[in-house]
Amino acid sequence: MLLTDSVNKVRGVGVKKAAALRRLGVETVYDLLTYYPRAYEDRSRITRIADLRAGMRAAVVGVIQTVTERRTRRRGFTVLTALIGDGTGYAQAVWFNQHFLKTKLREGRRVFLAGRADYAYNGGGQLALSQMTALEFLGAQESAESLLGILPVYAATEGLTQKQLRGMTAYALKESAAELTETLPAAVREEYGLIGRADAFRQIHFPKRAEELSAARRRLAFEELYLIQCGLLAIKKRSAEEQQGIAHRPNGAHIAAVLEALPFTLTEDQQTVWEEVARDMESPLPMRRLVQGDVGSGKTAIALLALVKTVESGYQGALMAPTEILARQHYDYLSELLTPRGIRVGFLAGRLAKKARAETDAALAAHEVDIVVGTHALIEDRVAFAALGLVVTDEQHRFGVAQRAALEKKSGITPDVLVMTATPIPRTMTLTVYGDLDVSRIEHLPPGRRAVRTFLRTEAARDKIYAFVRREIESGRQAYVVCPLIEASEESDLPSAEEVYEELSRGIFRGIRCGLLHGRMKSAEKEAVMRDFYEDKIKLLVSTTVIEVGVNVPNASILVVEHAERFGLAQLHQLRGRVGRGAYASYCILVAGSAAASEERLKIIEQTSDGFRLAEEDLRLRGPGQFFGAMQHGLGDLKIADVLADMDLLLLARKAALRTVDDPAALAFVLPSLVRQYREQFAHISEV
Ligand code: ADP
Ligand code: MG
Repeated sequence: MLLTDSVNKVRGVGVKKAAALRRLGVETVYDLLTYYPRAYEDRSRITRIADLRAGMRAAVVGVIQTVTERRTRRRGFTVLTALIGDGTGYAQAVWFNQHFLKTKLREGRRVFLAGRADYAYNGGGQLALSQMTALEFLGAQESAESLLGILPVYAATEGLTQKQLRGMTAYALKESAAELTETLPAAVREEYGLIGRADAFRQIHFPKRAEELSAARRRLAFEELYLIQCGLLAIKKRSAEEQQGIAHRPNGAHIAAVLEALPFTLTEDQQTVWEEVARDMESPLPMRRLVQGDVGSGKTAIALLALVKTVESGYQGALMAPTEILARQHYDYLSELLTPRGIRVGFLAGRLAKKARAETDAALAAHEVDIVVGTHALIEDRVAFAALGLVVTDEQHRFGVAQRAALEKKSGITPDVLVMTATPIPRTMTLTVYGDLDVSRIEHLPPGRRAVRTFLRTEAARDKIYAFVRREIESGRQAYVVCPLIEASEESDLPSAEEVYEELSRGIFRGIRCGLLHGRMKSAEKEAVMRDFYEDKIKLLVSTTVIEVGVNVPNASILVVEHAERFGLAQLHQLRGRVGRGAYASYCILVAGSAAASEERLKIIEQTSDGFRLAEEDLRLRGPGQFFGAMQHGLGDLKIADVLADMDLLLLARKAALRTVDDPAALAFVLPSLVRQYREQFAHISEV
C-alpha cells in the first residue's frame, strides 16, 4: 500500500468511515499514519486488586464470582455488575447498557479487564472498575502478556471509535511499512541517537513501553523540526550562493543628509543594526535580514536609511506594509523627507483607481520612481520594476516565506531583503519562524520615552475612565478607544466600534471631535479619518484593531481597550505601543468584563512592558497553535513537535540542519522528503 493511497484502501474503511476520517483531515494512508495519538492509556502492567486506588486506570486479571443486573430507576439504564476476585481481593466490574454481555459473563470464567477504578455505588468502600476499555476472556493458565501495552487514544470524531481508529492504523502500518523509508541521513540519526522511521511510526501508535513512546516522539519531532530548518536554510543558502546579489555602494551624500535631517541621533542599538544592514547591502551576496524590535523602538529609521542607500546605488526600493493606513503613513513620512532631495517616492495599494495604478506601474518599469511604498498589491504579478535593489517588509509575519520569494523573483537579480517585525518572538523560536534570515535586534527604546502606565479596570469604572480621558483631551492630548467588533452583531453582545462611537460622541465627548475607524470603511474614508487624527483635528478615535500596527501619532497619550479579554497579550502589547510615542505621560486602560478582570493573563500585561515576556506568556497560556495561528508565519502547523516544549530539540535540529545544507550528499538525501512534506511552504525550492 502506498502512503499516497486513499484511506479507502485500508481494511474496514468504507464510504461512511472515509467521510468520518475526512472530517479529521485524514484522506490518505499517510494522513492516517500522521494522525498521531492525542494521549495514551497505560495498560503496560497488571494491577493486583489489593493495589487498586480510586481514580486510577488499571488492568486486572481475575475470576468472575457473581453477576447481577439491575435497571436504574430514573432513566432505565441497565447496569451489569460482576464481582471479580484475584486472590488479593475483590472488586466490582460495571458495564452500563451492555445487556448483551450478560450471557458471556459466566461465573468461574477468567477475565482480563481494563477500566477506571472508583468507589462502588452502594459498595461499602469496595472499588469498582467502569469506563471499560478492555474485556478479554482467558483460559485458566493463559497469560495476559499479549494484551498488555500502551494504547493510543486519538482525537476521535462521531462515527469512529477508538477501537476502529486503532485497527485502521495498525492495518495501515503493517501494509505500508516498506514505504516508510528513512528521511534522516544516517549520520544525523546516529549522532542524535534517533530510531528509524518505520519503527518510530509503529511505536508512536503502539508503544510497548514508555521508553518506546518517548524514543518515537523524539525521532518524529526531530524530523519535523529538522526538515523545516533544512528548507529554510536551503533557501538561504541558495540566495547566498547561486543567486547574483547586489553590491550596494558605500554610504554617500544622501545618507549623510538624511541622518542630518532626522530630528534625533540614532541610538546605540539603531546604529549597530544600521551598520549590520549597510554591511549586508554592500556585500555582493543577497541580504536576508530580520530586524526585530519592540513597538516604538525606531525601526522606521533603519528602513529609511536602507531605502536611501539602494537609491544612492542606482536601484529602486520597495517598502511593503500590512495595511493601507500604515503604508500611507510610511509614504507620507518618506516623501516629506526625500522628495526635497530629488528622490522620487511612489505609492501603490490595491484599491487605487485604475489610472493611478497604471501610472505608478509604468513609472516603476521606467525607473521614474525610486522608492515605492505599498501593501501586498506590490507582490501582484504585473508590477515590474526596472531595477529592484531592496525590499523592506514591515510586520512581515503577515507575509509568508512563499510571498517573500515571489517578490524577490520580480527582477533578474536578487534584491536585498529587510524584514522588520515588532512581534516579540522568543529568541530561540525565531529559528523556526525565521530560520532563513539573519537576525538583528533593537533591544532598547529611544531615550526620554516614558513607560506607558497600564491599568486593568472593570466596566463599573467606565464613567470614571472616560471622564479622565476627557480631561486629558482638554489639556491637549488625543486618545484611542479600541473595540473588538466593527458593528453590533446578533451573535454577541460585545459593544461594537460603531456603538461605542455613537455612545461616546453623543454622550460624554459631546463638543469634542470624535472619529470612527474600521476595516470595512472605504480606503479614502479611512485615510481621511486617519489624517484628521494625525493632524490633531480628531481628538478621540474609536477603532477596531486596524490601528494595531505601526501607526504613529506622538500626541496621542491614552489608549482605552474595551473588552480587553478578547485580545491576546501580544496584540494588547502592540496596541499599547500606539501611545507613549511622544514626550507625554501615557496611559493604557484595559476595560474587562468583571469576571475577566481577574484573569491572570490580563494582570501580567498590567505589570510588564517586556514584549518578549508577554509573548512567552501568550504562548504558554494560549498554546502554540493559537499563537502561531494569529501570526500566520507561513510554516504551517507542526504536527508533533511543540515549539515550547521542544525548544532543546529545535536547537539540535537546527544544528544538524546547518551541517546538512553544507553537505551536498546529505542535502540531496533530505530534499525529496522535504519537498514532499512541505510542498506548500517550500514549493519554490524544488528547483534547487
Ligand atoms: P517602530 O519600531 O515601532 O516602527 P518607529 O520607527 O515608528 O518605531 O519610532 C517610534 C518613534 O520613535 C517615532 O516617533 C520616531 O521618530 C522616534 N524615534 C526613532 N528613533 C529615535 C531616536 N534614536 N531617538 C529619539 N526618537 C526616536
Ligand atoms: Mg514601524
